[in-house]
Amino acid sequence: MAYDPNNIFAKIVRGEAPCFKVYEDDRTLAFMDIMPQAEGHTLIIPKEGAESIFDLSPEGAAALIKTTKKIAVAVKEVTKAPGVMLAQLNGTAAGQTVFHIHFHVIPRTGGIDLKLHAREQADFEKLKALAAKISAAIK
Ligand code: 5GP
Repeated sequence: MAYDPNNIFAKIVRGEAPCFKVYEDDRTLAFMDIMPQAEGHTLIIPKEGAESIFDLSPEGAAALIKTTKKIAVAVKEVTKAPGVMLAQLNGTAAGQTVFHIHFHVIPRTGGIDLKLHAREQADFEKLKALAAKISAAIK
């Protein structure tokens, strides 16, 4: 499948759609997932238009994992979750639903199940507050 430049994350990169921004640099952008599977669920994307790991440049991949680490550390600090899960899905068969590559950073606490994937929209005021806290915790 060819990369669709009108996917929602491409629109967020271009500033044509809103997001609760956590972090931005030349190559990457991080923002809150609006249908979080746990409180603090954050997405990290490259600015480069790539659908999945298979068409992402090596430079884009390096920048993406570097930012993902930064965000994972900040999310852990803010949520105080004992564990943090990273997820990155490639292709419909793997469960990918937005076709612009991204990492999920999802805080995990033993005994608390994840909410369903991309199902329930969170309170926007809470997302805004979390984005500000995570952003402030980035080293
Ligand atoms: P995927 O299934 O592709 O790995 O994950 C896509 C993620 O994007 C899901 O967790 C879903 O909740 C999230 N998502 C879908 N649409 C939007 C949107 O418009 N804004 C934000 N911030 N997240 C979205």
